[in-house]
Amino acid sequence: MFSPVAFYVVGIMSGAISVVVFGSLVRSGIPGLFRWISANILIVAAFVALALNGSSPTPLTVIATSTLFAGAAFLVLQGCRLFFGLRPSRPYEVAAYAMLVIGVVYWTCFSPNVSARIVLISIFLAYVRLLVGWTTYTRRPLHRPGYSYQFVAIVAALGGVVHIARGLAVCLGWEHHTRFLEPTPMNIAFLGLGIITLPCLSIGALMLAYDRMGERMEQLAAIDELTGALVRREFMAQAELQLERANRTRSRFAVAILDIDNFKAVNDAHGHAAGDRALSHFSSIVSQGIRRGDIFGRLGGEEFAILLPETSRADALTLVNSLRLHLAASTLAIPRGEVTCTFSAGVDEYQANETLANLMARSDAALYSAKAMGRNRVVSALSAGDEAVGAAKDGPKPN
Ligand code: GH3
Ligand code: MG
Ligand code: MG
Repeated sequence: MFSPVAFYVVGIMSGAISVVVFGSLVRSGIPGLFRWISANILIVAAFVALALNGSSPTPLTVIATSTLFAGAAFLVLQGCRLFFGLRPSRPYEVAAYAMLVIGVVYWTCFSPNVSARIVLISIFLAYVRLLVGWTTYTRRPLHRPGYSYQFVAIVAALGGVVHIARGLAVCLGWEHHTRFLEPTPMNIAFLGLGIITLPCLSIGALMLAYDRMGERMEQLAAIDELTGALVRREFMAQAELQLERANRTRSRFAVAILDIDNFKAVNDAHGHAAGDRALSHFSSIVSQGIRRGDIFGRLGGEEFAILLPETSRADALTLVNSLRLHLAASTLAIPRGEVTCTFSAGVDEYQANETLANLMARSDAALYSAKAMGRNRVVSALSAGDEAVGAAKDGPKPN
């Protein structure tokens, strides 16, 4: 005779393992994790109740397991929504869950009807599973590898289809149930599929959590914490991509190298912490002044670079000069006074088929000229000579 106890034991094991593995990620602060952990705790509790009352469950066991499974599925959906930055549940869903509990109690204790119970639970589970699939598919970040998101979307959608099939089979009279989890072929298949999809969903959620952590690590590695600019390696990588694109599409781009003037004096006069604040002040002015699509990176220390796609040398000169004027006109309040910084910059435009190193070297040489000409100016490296915009009179004014 069919004994579902083996299924229950597998269900308990996979739920417990999921709790342990999700638990190891608690410190990551991934949104939705606690709902996923709670869902697996409910699943373990439901399977334990089933295993203890296997062949002749009491009405209380039937009510408890049905509402625990539905509650677990609802928590998975809530976790999924939180993960994607959405509201975890809608009021009508909470009301639907409450109706489900009432329906299960009614069709268990007051007017026993196994089929009605199955249809009710199947509708709820199908809705929740399909929504997990839909949310994951439509909210997947397009800049990330799609594998884990597609996996979750497919597993959840398949789970939804299984619940629809079960509800329909009972509705259409293909299956008639007189007692809880009667060992009909469909119930055995349903239990088996449930046992497969539950751990698959947990594994999928784990894959999403790990992808989110990977994304965070990549961001940490790509962005300079103090200034919010790209770190040198990331800037160079993106600049190489831009160079390839420019070769492919025969488009132009320019590179500017910026260096804060007499920055050592700021540090010496006000301390390293004020120097740090000046760096971050400079970066915020540049970040706000550049266009969408421009790439801003910190090459090291107080030296930065901006890559300006679809921009001629002359236009780059104008744009960087406006940044220079903006910075020179701004003041940074520090505990004992205020600081005004200026920068010098060298600008040049990409020449077909040259290397990035060549272009950067020319912009750097132009920067060197800007410093030699007295600082606080932007110089463009023209083959005929240097074209400068700016004034030499301002260095930093440590007050
Ligand atoms: P110049 O106009 O010729 O560029 O002069 P400078 O003083 O700006 O250039 P120099 O290369 O002599 O000094 C750069 C200073 O920048 C020295 C270094 O301590 C400081 N610096 C580099 N990185 C940081 C940082 O992250 N924070 C702070 N506070 N200072 C930094
Ligand atoms: Mg400097
Ligand atoms: Mg420097």
